Amino acid sequence: MNKHMTMKARGVALLIVMLGSCACVAGQEKAQDRRKFLSPSTPVSDDPRRIPVKPGPMGPERILVLRGGRIFDGTGTAVHEGTLVIERNKILKILPPSSSDWPKNAEVVDVAGKTILPGLIDLHTHLTYPLTEGEVLKAPSGADATLRAVEKLRYFLESGITSVRDVGSQGDVTFRLKEWVRENRLAGPRVFPAGQFITAEGGHSTENTPDEWIRWMGATRIATGPDDWRLAVREQFHKGADVIKLGSHFSFEEIKAAVQEAHELGLKVTVDSETFYIQRAVEAGADTIEHPLPRTDETIQLMAKKGVAADPTLIPYQIIFDEWGGYFGSTSRRFTFSNDANLEMLRRLKRAGIKCGVGTDLILHWYRYLPGAYIRELKNFVAAGWSAPEALVAATKTNSEILDMDDRLGTLEPGKLADVLVVDGRPDENLDDLAKIDLVVRDGNTVVQGGKVAISRHTVMPPPKKAQ
Ligand SMILES: [Zn+2]
Repeated sequence: MNKHMTMKARGVALLIVMLGSCACVAGQEKAQDRRKFLSPSTPVSDDPRRIPVKPGPMGPERILVLRGGRIFDGTGTAVHEGTLVIERNKILKILPPSSSDWPKNAEVVDVAGKTILPGLIDLHTHLTYPLTEGEVLKAPSGADATLRAVEKLRYFLESGITSVRDVGSQGDVTFRLKEWVRENRLAGPRVFPAGQFITAEGGHSTENTPDEWIRWMGATRIATGPDDWRLAVREQFHKGADVIKLGSHFSFEEIKAAVQEAHELGLKVTVDSETFYIQRAVEAGADTIEHPLPRTDETIQLMAKKGVAADPTLIPYQIIFDEWGGYFGSTSRRFTFSNDANLEMLRRLKRAGIKCGVGTDLILHWYRYLPGAYIRELKNFVAAGWSAPEALVAATKTNSEILDMDDRLGTLEPGKLADVLVVDGRPDENLDDLAKIDLVVRDGNTVVQGGKVAISRHTVMPPPKKAQ
């Protein structure tokens, strides 16, 4: 400050500083806020990071026509007959059934009697996690982690899931998979990685596991104190995270620092926590709370007031209760825990008007229960008060909002990215029909045909030219 400044000027300056800091506290910084610096005409990456990219056409050079199907567009409107036209990696238009307004060289697939719908999204995966509890020796291997993830990607894709939000995986694996899928070098859904799961010493995901093992496994980042929580967020951002995943326990100062850092970097935050830690996370500005874990009515009301979403994931706990007879031995689950209590929590979230998305958290070998496990989660929504079409909207449109991708994914509308399913049935009337996936298009590429992963023939390069 200039030493010649008058007392009055100093007073005004102090007031401005105070007002500035007050505005900061009152106005919650949102992850999307930094987008005000991007004009809509600036091409950016198709992920929440929104990094400027070179302009130019994307996706395969073709027009694909899905002719004469039942269209469930995910916007909440009723199913109607029509034809979907895809140009390169985007939805070009939706035509009435009588129209054949597409070029002669288009690739036309007759989908009469089948249902066309937006690609499903899974908000909660751990692609690199070990497949059995006893796989401790293989688990730390980066090669084995990658192969495990690649196998899981196939299960998701053949189940009609065209995007996964991975909320905790080993090392660089999910970041590399994201790139390989984007370049269509690997059959899989879009991967939106969080990188490592950030938690405290003794927090969720560290229970019953020595620190050395946690380091070997590489999927968990233990942080201590606000500065270290902030650093842990920056580390995931540096590696390429599309979202930040935090887990209790944490002090208010720790989670506040982590949420603030993530939002300033343009990333949303999702939190695995329980009881008063949920209240703390919501107060700190978290965007989504994972799991159906206990919380008070006061916390639910605060979630509703602040627009905090939920990813209830009832299905993993149903599998745990089915297979293990209960959830035992965890210091981060010290409460009475049952299927009935979880379903009641989902009902309470719905009654409070909280936005609920669909995630499966299929650890161990449970991905082999797909597509049934995903369908069972949708049926949980129906049991809690959603209709079948509303559950499908949660799986597509709502999930795209929670993912921060609703301007590009989640519904069938012109200009959106072409992530599209064709189902040989009527899933909007009978959710079990979702098991009859016929065709899947991801980013304009046909990636599942006849229910199986479809891989296009490799591209042969012309031989090198001889030097003159
Ligand atoms: Zn999880």
